[in-house]
Amino acid sequence: MKHYDVIVIGGGHAGAEAAAASARMGAATALISMSKASIGTMSCNPAIGGLGKGHLVREIGALDGIMGVAADRAGIQFRLLNRSKGPAVQGPRTQADRRLYKAAVQSLLAGQSGLDVVEGEVAELTMLSEGVVGGVVLADGAILTAAAVVLTAGTFLNGIIHIGDVRRSGGREGDAACTRLAAQLAELVLKRGRLKTGTPPRLDGRTIDWAGLERQPSDDVPVMMSFLHSKPIAPQITCGITHTNEQTHEIVRRNLDKSAMYGGFIEGVGPRYCPSIEDKVVRFADKASHQIFLEPEGLQDHTVYPNGISTSLPADVQLDYVRSIKGLETVTILQPGYAIEYDYFDPYELTSTMESKISRLYFAGQINGTTGYEEAAAQGLVAGANAAAAALGRNALHFGRADSYIGVMIDDLTHLGVTEPYRMFTSRAEFRLALRADNADQRLTGMGIAAGLISESRREGYVLKLTQLQEARELLHAQTATPQVLRDVGIAVSSDGPRRSLWHVLSMPEVTEGHIAALLPDFITFPAHIRRQCATDALYTPYLERQNAEVAALRRDEAVEIPADLNYSDLRGMSTELKCKLQRKRPRNLAEAARIEGVTPAALTLILAHVRSAARNNVAI
Ligand code: FAD
Repeated sequence: MKHYDVIVIGGGHAGAEAAAASARMGAATALISMSKASIGTMSCNPAIGGLGKGHLVREIGALDGIMGVAADRAGIQFRLLNRSKGPAVQGPRTQADRRLYKAAVQSLLAGQSGLDVVEGEVAELTMLSEGVVGGVVLADGAILTAAAVVLTAGTFLNGIIHIGDVRRSGGREGDAACTRLAAQLAELVLKRGRLKTGTPPRLDGRTIDWAGLERQPSDDVPVMMSFLHSKPIAPQITCGITHTNEQTHEIVRRNLDKSAMYGGFIEGVGPRYCPSIEDKVVRFADKASHQIFLEPEGLQDHTVYPNGISTSLPADVQLDYVRSIKGLETVTILQPGYAIEYDYFDPYELTSTMESKISRLYFAGQINGTTGYEEAAAQGLVAGANAAAAALGRNALHFGRADSYIGVMIDDLTHLGVTEPYRMFTSRAEFRLALRADNADQRLTGMGIAAGLISESRREGYVLKLTQLQEARELLHAQTATPQVLRDVGIAVSSDGPRRSLWHVLSMPEVTEGHIAALLPDFITFPAHIRRQCATDALYTPYLERQNAEVAALRRDEAVEIPADLNYSDLRGMSTELKCKLQRKRPRNLAEAARIEGVTPAALTLILAHVRSAARNNVAI
């Protein structure tokens, strides 16, 4: 029997980040996973980042997390998505060599002090007292106790793999499902459901006819996933691009009744925005073709991931439809695609620290109904840091919608719950002009330092960057120029305009660093990344001034606290259904109440009036 401050169950993306965060906080931490060798496995696509997801990776990095560092070590094709659009909606992404990614995660965990990695299956949670978790029992009978436990079991709880009408128990291809712990969790008072997701067949790259296919290279100027790196570490590769066609669609259509998803073999709900090839053929019947990216899974690996054709059709049908696609006419399938169905727990029941209704038991990752490595990792970081804070008697870490995509996700999950797998999009963030991937460190690293989550070297790097940024900003604000001076260096402004600070000048879209250097030669002495950051920050200044008013309104609403014992049944003019919902959810303030599904402005006015009148009369409510 051994005691830890924090035990993390699961070595996927949530578990790795949770364990690393907990240990960085100074908590004695154990990461228990079924197989040490599979820690950091990418169950589906070999890529990290993308739109919305790239923002999460940068925020994890800003809090000294490991995902971005591992992605940079394994990155074999860096691309900045939405490059032609504004920085707020650009998404850094890299394709990753699976083997290198796993190796990077395992080595980062091995180098983390205060962290033990334990191989074993957690068969049972133990309770310290009713409703308070106290540790775990492994399948071999070993007992580990802890002040807090983080559960990140991914798709493993009662996982069932489907290929056509063939179904078998499994956590993902090659791994056993976790049924004993699932059975215990089913006994607890936690709201549970079933979700599903799918993956495409894996192809042998040596049997692909690459010659006639369009190729997609890495970006000429790659943008890294971590703030700590400036250029790729691994060699860069190109992907292939091909398309489905009418024949492909006809084969899929003809066999729909054999698909696990369409043949009625699966009860769980799948991700709408990550459709299988069956979904695409049915839902977008008017489209004659769909794009497929052929992504090599590694530098020393012939496996190719055909991004865009996940499926749960029988293996022989998969071969048929894949071979109908240009370049894949004689392809060999190394592993058929499959769908997986698994238990999840409604995140609506979690607090914003990711603590469940069982005290000191935290949930993170796919078991909260999300999908994606980045979403899992971000939740892992929040759950791991908060489990450590609770175990060490420190203040909890809270993330808000105005400070991060992490905050947006946690807020969505805990206030709306999920009815289908949740993934991050930039459109989910109402303050996205402020929540950019480029400024994640400026938004979050200070908070991480205050919480004790940031290592000394990361802290030093951040303080240096902040100091340089501050100096550059002050210089740009201090120096002003008349319209004539600006026109002299080639900036098109009207000659009767006002004198402007160079910060203001830099915020003008057509102004370049070269213009600024001509006006202020000292600007060029700052490192390139500081100059770039100033340009982006300046560009957004006018918009942010407007957005700050909205953030202030949110903060005002957050400041209106709703007493924990408010009796919603006393509120007249509100539907019984809504009263029950509010009674159950118990929002802590007006802003939280506003985000609960079904809460209208009229309902908010009722709550506000009730809270104010009670405060005026100083009566219990
Ligand atoms: P996982 O990565 O699943 O890790 C779970 C970990 O828990 C594993 O290490 C496992 O060994 C461990 N574990 C489980 N139970 C126990 C136990 N009792 N004791 C000890 N250890 C335990 N995401 C997308 O974004 N897009 C997709 O298209 C997509 N498709 C997918 C298709 C498939 C078939 C699968 C399996 C996943 C797919 N995903 C997809 C999801 C993505 O893989 C997950 O979102 C992500 O891996 C979740 O991370 P996690 O840490 O929550 O869980």
